[in-house]
Amino acid sequence: MDTIFTKIINKELNSNIIFEDDHILAFEDVNPCAPIHFLIIPKKKIRSINEISENDSNLIGKMFIVARDIAKKKKIAKDGYRLVINCNENGGQTVYHLHMHMIAGKKLNWPPG
Ligand code: AMP
Repeated sequence: MDTIFTKIINKELNSNIIFEDDHILAFEDVNPCAPIHFLIIPKKKIRSINEISENDSNLIGKMFIVARDIAKKKKIAKDGYRLVINCNENGGQTVYHLHMHMIAGKKLNWPPG
């Protein structure tokens, strides 16, 4: 099923793109919860972590590589950052297209509620 992120991938909806290749897109979160907050998504439609298959291993790994590279580029690697993937209702997922939040730019609270 398509989500708002399908429209972003297809450029039918504007977003501030930070990184793009054939398989991955990273763009700024429209409602940032920290000075730096962007999303890293696979272009492949995967609803949530629960729908990841063995064949997606490289793709999921690539999401972390992209996170690492952007962290370096944005000079937040040393200070640190948080990667979050919410899953389903209790996890707080609101968009059912797999996405990794990259949150940084301030000291983040832990634990989350
Ligand atoms: P989650 O609650 O983990 O499913 O996260 C969904 C995220 O998508 C939220 O942080 C939203 O602010 C973000 N979001 C929703 N619509 C857009 C959009 N059009 N462009 C950028 N980010 C969006």
